[in-house]
Amino acid sequence: MAFFDKLGNTISAAGKTGLSKAKEIKDTARIALDIQEREGAIRKLYQDLGQAYYHAHKDDENSEYTQIDEIKAAFEEIGELKAAKDGIRGIRRCPECGAAVADDANFCSSCGAKCEKPEPEVYEGEVVDSEEEADEETAESEEEDAPVEEEAFEDEEKTEE
Ligand SMILES: [Zn+2]
Repeated sequence: MAFFDKLGNTISAAGKTGLSKAKEIKDTARIALDIQEREGAIRKLYQDLGQAYYHAHKDDENSEYTQIDEIKAAFEEIGELKAAKDGIRGIRRCPECGAAVADDANFCSSCGAKCEKPEPEVYEGEVVDSEEEADEETAESEEEDAPVEEEAFEDEEKTEE
């Protein structure tokens, strides 16, 4: 531990030679900075560890860490907020990569995925009704095809005689 050996020498040297207050302040400030640096590194490591844990355990059931559900809820809210923002601006999004897609484009210019244009909604009730009408018409036409009565021919024969 070269850093701590050097630090030890500095401290003992200060004690022996009675270095100035200014030097003492400078050394302690440098040490405080070194502590801050390590604390920052720990914060970043904690964050990375938390993120790795989240991705490894986000689908676990009954996790003891409520933060997982809180993070999931926040992600969902972000999705809804982004969709609301897109809605206001009239922006279409690629279903694969989420990039903005031009109104008349059929494919994403970023990843090439097919982007379906929203189809006008079909009223399903109307479709069912027209099918029922078609069935009724078929039934009526079957009745019309019934064999013609023979009486008409008999009358014609009588007129000729
Ligand atoms: Zn895309």
